[in-house]
Amino acid sequence: MSSKVAVVTGGNKGIGLAIVRALCEQFRGDVYLTARNEGRGQEAVAALSDGGLKVNFHQLDLDDVASIAAAADFFKHKYGGVDVLVNNAGIAFKVADTTPFGVQADVTLRTNYFGTRDVLTHFLPLVKAGGRVVNVSSAVGVHSLKMCSPPLRERFRSDDITEDELTALMRRFVELARQGQHKQEGWPEMAYGVSKIGVTTLSMIHARRLSKERPGDQILVNACCPGWVRTDMAGPKAPKTPEEGAVTPVFLALLPAGATEPHGKFVSDKTVQAW
Ligand code: NDP
Repeated sequence: MSSKVAVVTGGNKGIGLAIVRALCEQFRGDVYLTARNEGRGQEAVAALSDGGLKVNFHQLDLDDVASIAAAADFFKHKYGGVDVLVNNAGIAFKVADTTPFGVQADVTLRTNYFGTRDVLTHFLPLVKAGGRVVNVSSAVGVHSLKMCSPPLRERFRSDDITEDELTALMRRFVELARQGQHKQEGWPEMAYGVSKIGVTTLSMIHARRLSKERPGDQILVNACCPGWVRTDMAGPKAPKTPEEGAVTPVFLALLPAGATEPHGKFVSDKTVQAW
């Protein structure tokens, strides 16, 4: 139970894989690549191992709460908790996708917001003193926040929004999108963006909660944007390599012992951004 452990979701490809690789090189402890699909995860582990890196695998699907609970249980018993958690996994419909907006909203929020939240519900209590939690959000969330009605924007920016209120707002968006009523109620036509508003706001809520409930533990929780990165999600025209996209998430995951900030912030290019 003595070694430190870092866990990355959606680690089999793209930015997640680059984060795993960087942690294998820089984190002093065991690194777990997790993936929803065992075969794809093991293939990525084999490729990293062939490159001389030591990495472990655990299955974890954001859409399957039993798999999240099983993974959390594994880390609790093998390591007594986790030291670094990078919530990287996420999905996005392509711009040209003709799936009805209500379905896109439902599917996108199910993974990006509700799935990420389920992971945090199970893992946050396991984060050890000095731990680091990094939630990979997006600058699209900041843009989408600006497109929300002033009352909605005010709630997402407020210091007193609770996880329950945020979750109710995310549910409300999906419901309204299903009915084609979201724009009338002040929401933007951006399912992915709203899901990332949720991820960033949730990070801020959790940071405030940890500061209050575990003040001595110096756990740092942040949301970040990796930049526009060439992956299956963003396509070949994006300027950054996955390794470049991993820089800010890894910077936040490896904030040195004793650091007190950033905490509860939205960070890109290793710099705190306005929310
Ligand atoms: P990719 O599509 O390349 O990779 C996404 C990863 O998430 C894959 O490993 C995928 O697994 C995994 N994933 C998807 N759904 C689930 C699930 N239900 N459970 C577990 N894993 C899942 O995307 P990127 O690497 O580009 O994106 C990584 C993160 O960065 C995302 O959160 C994204 O929103 C964010 N981001 C990306 C930007 C970019 O320009 N690329 C810009 C801003 C933010 P599988 O292979 O099984 O599908």
